[in-house]
Order: sequence, then C-alpha cells, then structure tokens
Amino acid sequence: MPLADYMAECLHDPEFGYYATRDPLGRQGDFITAPEVSQMFGELLGLWMAQVWMDQGSPEAVLAELGPGRGTLMSDVLRATRGVPGFHDAIEVHLVEASPVLRAVQAGAVPGAVFHDSIADLPEAPLFLIANEFFDALPIRQFQMSDAGDWQERQIGSDGERLIWGLAPPAPLSVSDEYAPGMIVETCVPGEAIAQEIGRRVSEHGGAALIVDYGDVESAGDTFQALKGHAFSDPLETPGEADLTAHVAFGPLARAAAPARAHGPVGQGLFLERLGITARAQALARGLSGAALEDHIAAHRRLTHPDEMGTLFKVMALTPEGAPVPPALE
Ligand code: SAH
Repeated sequence: MPLADYMAECLHDPEFGYYATRDPLGRQGDFITAPEVSQMFGELLGLWMAQVWMDQGSPEAVLAELGPGRGTLMSDVLRATRGVPGFHDAIEVHLVEASPVLRAVQAGAVPGAVFHDSIADLPEAPLFLIANEFFDALPIRQFQMSDAGDWQERQIGSDGERLIWGLAPPAPLSVSDEYAPGMIVETCVPGEAIAQEIGRRVSEHGGAALIVDYGDVESAGDTFQALKGHAFSDPLETPGEADLTAHVAFGPLARAAAPARAHGPVGQGLFLERLGITARAQALARGLSGAALEDHIAAHRRLTHPDEMGTLFKVMALTPEGAPVPPALE
C-alpha cells in the first residue's frame, strides 16, 4: 500500500489505530508538545489571535483548533484572553478532532466546545484557527527518483514475515527539477486540501490561521518518522503503537491557501520572543523557587532555544489579502 494509506491506518484505524486507542501526550506518553511544555505558549498564541481579531474589527467569529490534543492549548488561549474586551462574547469555540479518546479529554479541558470530524463541518463565519503539531500527523506520499529519472512511489508491503519497503512502477509527478536519482520528495495531499479550505474561509469571511509545526519551506527528502516512548523507532516495526509523522512543508500549504496571504514561516523561538515570552517568563518566575523555578526556566529554553524547539518548529499565518500584517510575522 502507498505510505499515505499505511499512515492513515496506523494512526486512525478505529480498533487498532494509534490516536483512536490512547492519549499519546505527556511524560508517560510518546511525545510532549509546546502547550504541554508551558502555559506561556498558549497564552501568547491567544493574545496573538485576539490582536488579529481586533485588527479585523472584532467580528462575531468561530475560534477553532485542529487536533487539540489534551485541550491544553485552547484552554490557555481562553484563559489568557479573558481580559480582552468583547472577545469571549464574540467567539464560539469549535474543535476538529478525530480521536474519541482525545475528544473526551478535550471536552473536560474546554467546556462548551463544539466538536467536528472535519474542518469542512465548521460554520461558515469569520474563522480564527490554530493548529499546533496537526499537519505533521497527516498522511504523506513519498516518491523516489529512479536511475532513469522517473518518479516511483514508495510503498509498504510484506515479505510474509515482516513489513518491508517497496517501489511502485514509475508515474508522472510534477515537482521542481532540482532532484537527482535516489532523492525522495514528499507530498501531503490532505494537508494541502485543509490549507485550501482555510484559505477559502478566511478569504470569504475574514479571520486568520496560525499554523505551528516542525518542518521547512519545501519538502526536504525523507522525513517520515516514528516516535515511541520519547525515542525514534522503526516506523514499520510496531504499526498502531508508534506516532507516525513527517516534517511539514509550509510552501505547498501557503500556495494551496491562495488567495489568502501567507506570513512566515518564522522560527518558533523568534516568534515567541517577538511576542514577549521573556517578559512573561520573568513575571511567572517571580512566584517560583527551587525545582519549580528550574522547570520553568527549562521550559522557556525548550520552547525558544535553537537547539530545542526554537528553529525546527516554525510558525506561519494565513490572513485575507489586504488585512493588516499580523503581529510577530512582518
Ligand atoms: N495540538 C495538540 C496535539 C498534537 S497531536 C498539542 O499541541 O498538544 C495531533 C492531534 O491531531 C491529536 O489531537 C490527534 O488526535 C489529532 N489528529 C490527527 N490526525 C487528525 C485528523 N485527520 N483529523 C482530526 N484530528 C486529527
């Protein structure tokens, strides 16, 4: 089967799928995300969102999140924006989540949120949308250039005992001609479809999207990876038991979202610094001492430092053409 089908089955099979059967986040789980590292992440994203909402005339709007995990990010966004005049009265919170297990956790963290299976089901209204580590979980396809210069799709099959990689017969693929035999290019068809849908809604009704994920501007070869118990593992070894992801290529998402305008991507560290994370970190540090203070300092570093999440993770915004440039992304 093509890699995309393998990813979709491993992650979402109703009986054995990774997300369908567990809460993978946190120290006991397989990975930790920025909102789980520190409340500062959600607070600053929330204030960013509220500023963009005000810049667009404070409309009645949908505040949505794609793949909200434990609901921590949305909960921090809502807490941080409580003091923004009119914001909470003007918004309705909608969450797009595939996993029944995580939906239950999110319902506890974000009371009153409306759930959807797909972004297509959101109400047609101004849309203020957040997606952190969502696009990396969407199924990718991989194509490898043969010695003859043809593109062959990478597939997964079985030798009777274990899962193995294989190649489909050559097929046409339109990508730039900077590739040489042996090189791999990745595409994310569902990611582009979602970006297109966001772009359409934001362009028609107003609003903005803030997309945060690890990745690069364009596809950078083979980035398919499996994570289990905070360590990399073989993605074919334990189907349904490991988190499968790929780096996000922001360029294709930006192009799919046209005519909405893309801002960035910029590194997460730079983005958070521009939004004032250091001042916020210092304010929070005043109430802390001992191990709690050490943890807080480590969390600040983890979110922003180039050796940690600061440059690998990137932030891109989508806004309607002609809307003011959003904070921290000029
Ligand atoms: N944003 C959260 C969680 C990231 S993990 C955080 O930052 O902590 C990825 C999230 O996306 C999970 O909630 C997972 O269940 C959800 N998800 C993955 N694929 C999805 C899909 N196709 N549709 C909806 N939700 C999906």
